Amino acid sequence: MTDQTMYVILLGPPGAGKGTQAVQTAERTGLLHLSTGDMFRENLRNGTDLGNLAKTYMDKGELVPDDVTIRMLLERIGRDDAKAGCLFDGFPRTVEQAKALDVALTEQGDEIAVTVLIDVSNEEITRRLGGRVSCATCGSVFHEIFNPPNADSPCCDSIKMIQRDDDKPDAIANRLQVYADQTEPLVEYYTESGKLSTVNGEQSPDAVGVDLLAALQAVSS
Ligand code: ADP
Ligand code: ADP
Ligand code: ZN
Repeated sequence: MTDQTMYVILLGPPGAGKGTQAVQTAERTGLLHLSTGDMFRENLRNGTDLGNLAKTYMDKGELVPDDVTIRMLLERIGRDDAKAGCLFDGFPRTVEQAKALDVALTEQGDEIAVTVLIDVSNEEITRRLGGRVSCATCGSVFHEIFNPPNADSPCCDSIKMIQRDDDKPDAIANRLQVYADQTEPLVEYYTESGKLSTVNGEQSPDAVGVDLLAALQAVSS
């Protein structure tokens, strides 16, 4: 699966498990994992103008404006390490972003191979986001109950886990609404272009990973 250009989108509500699956699937397939949320958070840590701008939206659980997000993403996929294909996690999140991505890939003679929807109910999402923590050093994601950090061999030899500001209850409710209003229309968008594949996200992370890999294999032969 590594010797061809393959662009894959992971779609799903906040907390569906996109990041968790993207990390594992990138390792297995050699695809480059690109998370727009991670890019914004990295800019924020580095104190860039882009990071400071993004923060004003992220804190409220709103989307960063399309023009800014699209420019950042297109610049990133133009770099050499992304030329062999990527696994998009958290992008696109609006129809405008999806269209901009389609245009850019068409211009370079490529297209999306498949968009995989990780399907999870709102109740499960609230449980997942409420317990999500990440390593203060490397950002690896854990869950206080479903995927706790290992006390015997802590991540980065550190026991410090932090909760994202936007994983607090008020921001979670808003993010679910923003998903329903602005991102869920992408399910129809990719269904119409025949690119949508849905996996049941309410299984163990390993079982979701098996289904995800099968969805990629179905389009890569
Ligand atoms: P989640 O884990 O909830 O899916 P992400 O880490 O992907 O969240 O994104 C966190 C925040 O970063 C979003 O709530 C939004 O403010 C911003 N963001 C990330 N990706 C995008 C995007 N494609 N378009 C607009 N805003 C985005
Ligand atoms: P997203 O990137 O879609 O926002 P994450 O991958 O960050 O989602 O997962 C959200 C939370 O749910 C994290 O705390 C993660 O450890 C946990 N999680 C991910 N996949 C599963 C799963 N299949 N079952 C239970 N918890 C999960
Ligand atoms: Zn770590």
